[in-house]
Amino acid sequence: TVLFHLGEMATATESLDDSTFEVLGSEIGYKVEIVSPEDEDKELLESFGLNLEQEELDEDDENLEIRPPVVTVMGHVDHGKTRVLDAIRKTNVIDGEAGGITQHIGAYQIWTEHEGNERAITFIDTPGHEAFTAMRARGADVTDIAILVVAADDGIMPQTVEALNHAQAAGVPVVVAVNKVDKPDANPAKVRSQLTEYGVVAEEYGGDVMFVDVSALRGDGIDNLLEAVLLTADAGLDLVANPNKEARGVAIEAKLDKGRGSVATVLVQGGTLRVGDPIVAGTAYGRVRAMIDENGDRVEEAAPSRPVQVQGLNSVPRAGDLFLVTEDDRMARQIAEKREAVERNAQLAKARKRMSLEDFTKALEEGKVESLNLIIKGDVSGAVEALEESLLKIEVDDSVQLRIIHRGVGAITESDINLATIDNAIVIGFNVRPDTKAREAAQREGVDTRFYNVIYNAIDDVESSLKGMLKPEF
Ligand code: GDP
Repeated sequence: TVLFHLGEMATATESLDDSTFEVLGSEIGYKVEIVSPEDEDKELLESFGLNLEQEELDEDDENLEIRPPVVTVMGHVDHGKTRVLDAIRKTNVIDGEAGGITQHIGAYQIWTEHEGNERAITFIDTPGHEAFTAMRARGADVTDIAILVVAADDGIMPQTVEALNHAQAAGVPVVVAVNKVDKPDANPAKVRSQLTEYGVVAEEYGGDVMFVDVSALRGDGIDNLLEAVLLTADAGLDLVANPNKEARGVAIEAKLDKGRGSVATVLVQGGTLRVGDPIVAGTAYGRVRAMIDENGDRVEEAAPSRPVQVQGLNSVPRAGDLFLVTEDDRMARQIAEKREAVERNAQLAKARKRMSLEDFTKALEEGKVESLNLIIKGDVSGAVEALEESLLKIEVDDSVQLRIIHRGVGAITESDINLATIDNAIVIGFNVRPDTKAREAAQREGVDTRFYNVIYNAIDDVESSLKGMLKPEF
């Protein structure tokens, strides 16, 4: 009623912004304190004597050492992001094992010679800005530099601009890889002039952005590209970290492995991670049982900017979850359990709200609102995040809502189906299938479960079903 008088025509299912809550509170005599999930988590860590921000500030310059830049490759679809990442991986000069087995762990590090020194660079192995954005949404800023891949035969395309916007919003400097210069219709000069319209001016045009012509297909120009990355890092970025403390960083990819259990690729951002360390990553905790690198080799320790795949967590963290090494196992477990409790409460609050929504149901019946509820399960957290991001971006008429009521890593379980039954949701499995119990439950309850191994197909289907749900126009 109060909201109504304030001119806010909100239904019980709608989210309100912070200021509306504050106004609402003062109208009914309460002071509303807005606590973001990040603040809440910060308070939780502080109750364990952990203050990561203060730790950064207190860092003694003497302890800081140069760390490798962390690079994400972005750009329009088919402009060659994957090829560029492959070509870079092949240039690794130190790792002499030509044709060695490389593992996809979500990131890799290469060594290259730069002005007489051996320098390392870390690459996030999931191209595109979707994963980048999903991680940032979780408060994780892992990328120092973005390589913007633009095909010289195609020029600036919508996702080029999108990627650029994401990099700029994050304050991440860009190096432009003008790719496919081997093609007869390649026009690298045009790429340069097109990008000036977006404020990205090449050095040779008097700007401060490095452009490098490459052919990822032939491997041409890749060395120059690495050079440009290091020059950009050295020019303006103060990339240092203290390796001599307990490790902190970000989980960038994680999955459930049949033999090894939860495996999570983490990027160390400060300190050094060692086998045997007790760690907590989001709501997952455990002791580092083993670590492997991008070559599948076991490693005993990982310094700043080093990505490693960690075994030993009790569950699968999400991409973008921060991890940290704690004093002991108990502390790791307690932090994880407290976070679980916070999440469970939030979920319960949402679920309760959904189930008592007579007004919403009525609106549905009257055809005022339509809502498509989804549950997303996938094999790796990066894919789940990316799918969710893309689905939420589908543009539809105001009368239809898309809601992702649950998402997670691993097989589709009976509890997913139960949730789908309550909320009349459709279950999407990305590279995962239901276990036996879940399959039976889905059949019994008539829950629609769909399986995909290509993200675009999932998006396509959801988009058309959303459009199909639109009321016919008369
Ligand atoms: P992504 O969608 O940006 O990851 O693009 P891909 O790396 O999958 O490349 C898309 C297509 O362009 C593939 O068929 C590649 O073989 C091709 N391609 C990538 N780089 C080059 C290049 O330097 N020259 C030529 N001629 N083709 C390339």
